[in-house]
Parts: sequence; C-alpha cells; structure tokens
Amino acid sequence: MKYGATDVRQFVVGVMLGIYKPEPAEEIYEWAERVLRIPATENPEMAGMLWSSAHSPYVRELMRWVKRPGKGEFWIRKSSQTGFTMAVLIIICWMIVHRPCPMGYAINSIEEAKKISKIRLQKWITYNNLLEEIGEEEDSLNNLTFFFRSATVYMLSAATTGDWQNKTIDILIMDELDIHEHHEGQGTTVDMARGRVKRSKNSKIIGFSTPGDTDQITIEYKKGSMDEVRFPFPCCGHVQAMKKENLVFSTKEFKDLAGGYLMDKVKSDAYIKCEMCGGRLFDYQKRAAMQACEYVATNPKADPAIRSVHIWDAYSPFVTFGEIAVAWIQADGNPELLEGLYRRNFGEPYERTGAVLKHADVLACRGGVVGTPTYYERGHVPFIPIWLTQITDVQGDVRKTIKLAICPKGNFWIVDWKVTLSLAEAFDWIDVPVIGPNGEELYCTEGFCDEGHIAKTIREECMDRIQVDSLVPIWPVKGVDVENVTELVSTNFRYIGGNYGDEEILVYSIADRPFKWEIIYMLSQREKRLKGGKPVIFLPTDTEEDDDIIAELCNEHPYKKKNKTTNKEKWDWKKTGPNDFLDTLKYGIAMWTIKRPLLRKEGRAA
Ligand SMILES: [Zn+2]
Repeated sequence: MKYGATDVRQFVVGVMLGIYKPEPAEEIYEWAERVLRIPATENPEMAGMLWSSAHSPYVRELMRWVKRPGKGEFWIRKSSQTGFTMAVLIIICWMIVHRPCPMGYAINSIEEAKKISKIRLQKWITYNNLLEEIGEEEDSLNNLTFFFRSATVYMLSAATTGDWQNKTIDILIMDELDIHEHHEGQGTTVDMARGRVKRSKNSKIIGFSTPGDTDQITIEYKKGSMDEVRFPFPCCGHVQAMKKENLVFSTKEFKDLAGGYLMDKVKSDAYIKCEMCGGRLFDYQKRAAMQACEYVATNPKADPAIRSVHIWDAYSPFVTFGEIAVAWIQADGNPELLEGLYRRNFGEPYERTGAVLKHADVLACRGGVVGTPTYYERGHVPFIPIWLTQITDVQGDVRKTIKLAICPKGNFWIVDWKVTLSLAEAFDWIDVPVIGPNGEELYCTEGFCDEGHIAKTIREECMDRIQVDSLVPIWPVKGVDVENVTELVSTNFRYIGGNYGDEEILVYSIADRPFKWEIIYMLSQREKRLKGGKPVIFLPTDTEEDDDIIAELCNEHPYKKKNKTTNKEKWDWKKTGPNDFLDTLKYGIAMWTIKRPLLRKEGRAA
C-alpha cells in the first residue's frame, strides 16, 4: 500500500493521538454490511439484522464517492422515501471509526436536529458498540454535539446559523435543503456550508432534499453531473434509467369497458416499459435488477467537482410501481395534489399557475343551446344522475344551498340553488325533486351542511333528520385549511350537545385547498380538461337569469404571497366577495371523492 502526503500526515497525527488505524480497502457499504446491525428504532421489522445495501443499491455510489480523497459536493434531488438519510448516518458511523474528522449534519430546525441525533444517529452508534471500538465513553454523545478525541459531530439547525459560524468542518451533510430558512445578508445555507468546508483537502458537502418552494436542490443539482441511475432491464439487458414517462398504468388492460381504472390491477401490475424492446419491468423484479446499477452523467457542462443525481420513488424499496400509479391517478387534474406527487413521489419541482376567474370563464360552463345534449334549465338534469346531493353553506344569517348531480361521465352539474334565512327551509328543500330527461322526478339521496360558526346547531338539526328513517339524511361537514394534506376527506365522531347531550354524530372534514384548486382549474381550463377527459363543471343554460352564483364562483382566487422575512413566495387565497356557493360546490366535489369508489364497487360509477 502506498501512502500519499495526506496519509502520512494523518498517520503521524493518528499515532500521536494513539488511534491510528489504516483505512480499510473495503468500501463503506461493505464495512457496514459486515459490521452494522439495524437498531429497532430505525426499522422494527429488521431490528438486529445486518444492514444491507441490497435494499437501495443506488446509495453505494455515494458511499464510494465520499471515501475517495479530494474535495467535492454531492447533491441528491430525491423523492421522500429513498433511504439516503440512513445511508448518510452510516457514512458518519464509518467516519467516526475510520476517518475521524469534524463533521456537521444540518437540518431545517433544532427539533429535527435533536430528533435525528437522539432517535437515529446515537442509536446506530451505541447499538453497534462503535464507541468501544474507538475507545470512547457513552457520555461523549451529547445531545447535539458528539465530542470524541479526534472527531466531532455537530448536529446543526439551519435556522440558527450563529452556531455554524466558527466551525471548520470536513464533511457537511445538508438534509431537507429546500426547507432551510433564508438568512438575510448571509445567503442560503449552501453558501454558508461552502464557507465552513474551505480548509480541509478532503472536505465534502453532501446535500439532499425533496424539491420544495425554494427549489434550491434543483439549482445545486443542475450545477453538477446530473447523473441517472441506470441498470440493465431483465427483458433485453438494455441499460437504462427508470423514467416516470415509462410507467405504464393507463393502457386498455388497466381499464374496464366504461373506461374506468381497475385500481386493483393498477396496484398490482403497473410496470416500467423498456425503452429498447417494449418489455416490462415489474415491481417485484426491480430490486434484483437494480443490484447492477450505475450512475451515468447527463450534464456535459457540469462543474467537475460537483456530482449530482436525481432519484424518485420507482427506485425506492418502500414504494411500489402500483402505489405510485394510484397516487398519480388520484392527483390527476388537481394542482395541489399534483404538486405533492411531483415533489414527494417524483422528486421533481412543480410550479402551479394561478388564475383569477372572470364571469366569462363561468358563463362558458353553461349547458348548450336547446337541442344539444348538454342543454338543461335550472331545476332539471339532461341525464339520470349517478349521485344527486344537496349542500348547504352557513355564513352569518344566510344559508346558501345547491343541488349537485354527477353524470355517468363523472362531471359535476349544478342543478339548482337557493338562498334562505332559515336552516329548516334550506333542509326541507332537499325533498323538492329535480326533473330528469323524461320528466321524471329525481330525489337527493343524502345531503351535507357546513358546520360554519354554529356547529352545535347544525349537528343537532342533522341528527334530528338522521334519526327519522323516512327523511333524507344530511351530514355535517367542515373544511380544514391545512398544508401537506394526508387525507382529502376524513371522518370523525363529534359530540352533539344540546338535546343530545354527549351523544355523537359522524362529521366529515375536508381539506380545503386541494378542492379549491381543482375548482379553479375546472372553471379556468375547461377546454383542456374536456379534451383530456377530466371532470368539469356545468351550470344550467339559463343561469344568467339569476347570476349571483356566477359572481360567487369568481370571488376567491389563489395568489402568490411573499413572506418578507424568508423571502419565499407561497400560494394563498384572496376573497373578493361572498363565496358561499363556491364553498357548497367545494364540499360537493370533496364528498364525491369518497362516494365514487363506493358507487364504483357497485358498478354504478366509472
Ligand atoms: Zn428490453
């Protein structure tokens, strides 16, 4: 073995500290596969087993790179669940044992830094008795800083950059880069990181993130090699990357005769199509096939010191092709959900475009003229609905109610609307029929009412109806304004109060924002959606005779609001007048998302 100048210096320093051991020739992942057992806190099912790079073979390249001498940066633009955090913790473990040096792990907040330290990194270290190996005591593991004789590990918060100021760091890891705060006068945390790692000859920065509002990760990714992770597909051996464009789940075989998705089939059989022979790579084959993966640069203009790679959920050991396909189908046409899908599942940036609705946009949603199949007057429907419902919104003393029909194609038809001062009158209107294509009387099968500011009253009135078998039930529903929605519609049992005391009633909660975005797109991008077979909204041909509803549908729109301290722009909503009818429509569309799968099971909806 030959030693360079750096190795000799390290050797001398190492001998003086009494800890020198030559670096092993084996790769970091080979060492980890031989030595590191998985703590229960990391993965309860695999607790006690040796870690293996076979689950996520693409992390091996990062581990090879970090071991090689020289300065550099490695940026990973990724989806949420790819196992890179675990890989980086393993790298830190290896460094502690084999290449002691000052290390930093920066994440968005002090709470996250503590969490990673306590629940993850410290567990890897203690569970694998690494401290004994390097002759350290457990009390060297302080909460946010681990002081060893030759190495220090700093857990850093991107929010409190004062902590970083006077540290020289050899390996700086930047997790969740896109939610790091911007610091006035100091630039991004990436600028600060570069300032911290200047001195050492082998200093390295490893940064990774799911693309977010700042999309800093894409900026860094594009400076680098922009590697693809390619491997030979089993069909013909052609070496290629998995691309989302080649994920197949919407061809004929995945649909029923009516054109609806066979979701079980999508979930089990979605596949990646080989770009060479058209063969199929199924999810169950990907792990074995990926073992031979390699990184291939695609950016001829890359800075030679910067490696970068993009990786998405198709590669993840935790997500199947079918699950990605189902999420894609569910997000289709909804900008808020698509944003989440692109960022968290595809690891790609996603930029929504807002829209201010005009009268003309809503007028364009009216049914056609007499004699055309979409012609209908208020109170009528030109088809037999697969679902007919009534939704009431409560604002101050006013109750606004709409009747909404879903046609067999899945479009939303506003049938009729009414403004009342009394809740009873609004509720009783549910018993007034809608007139069908052949003059038949059609009735709502259930209704919904926004709890608004009078939850107790609404719950009581709803319960009064639900208790009587002969009445059409009306259910309380409320909108929740949350970001990062996990459930679009959820149910809870809530106390009723009043005459019902501590009895409970089923209350639906809906995530406001995704549905508002979908309505905006349904109204503003109607032609595009019609061509793409995505649901749209219809209003009666004679709507102008009472056009308050048109104004109300235009009275709320998304806009980009700038946060002065973080300098980031975020979507927010602006109200320009009463929007209660917009709310009723929102609730109707939301409830359809849970009604539709039920009707589909019964063979009544596509
Ligand atoms: Zn092939």
